Amino acid sequence: MTDYFTRLLGIQGFVVEAVTQDRQGAHSRVVLDIKRGERPRFICSGCCHVSEEGIEYRTREVQHLSCWQHLTVLRFKQYRVNCPHCGLKVEALPFVLRYSRVSVWLGNLVYELCKVMTNKSVGILQGLDDGTVKAIGKYRQAARWTGSALWGLMRYSSEVRSVCI
Ligand SMILES: [Zn+2]
Repeated sequence: MTDYFTRLLGIQGFVVEAVTQDRQGAHSRVVLDIKRGERPRFICSGCCHVSEEGIEYRTREVQHLSCWQHLTVLRFKQYRVNCPHCGLKVEALPFVLRYSRVSVWLGNLVYELCKVMTNKSVGILQGLDDGTVKAIGKYRQAARWTGSALWGLMRYSSEVRSVCI
């Protein structure tokens, strides 16, 4: 079953390890534990140097696009890279910005919805608080969203090249 979720999720280089529902009812939440596939690569967030070795740093949870009526969360380990140019740096990831609590896809959806709905309505629809919705809008307007994460995502192919500009 996890192979099926891996294919549906479609994040290059990551596989779904487990799927759990940790909340039931109106605020139902599904957590996808994802991990690196074979031959993992870690990208320095400072200079885009690609390393085959990562140093485990922390576990992160970011909200992703909802799956049916369930809020969906991606849980994964983020690593640091011992970069020969920058020293110890947190890795760059193709699907989430460094301090963001939502995936790039959800961020883009929220931004587009805010063009035709109130922030409050978007928050209710996507299970986000007003502050998060406003922060996504401001961030995107500053063009940093498209300038780094989204563009980087599009460049992220089967051969990891770079998530930086
Ligand atoms: Zn570097």
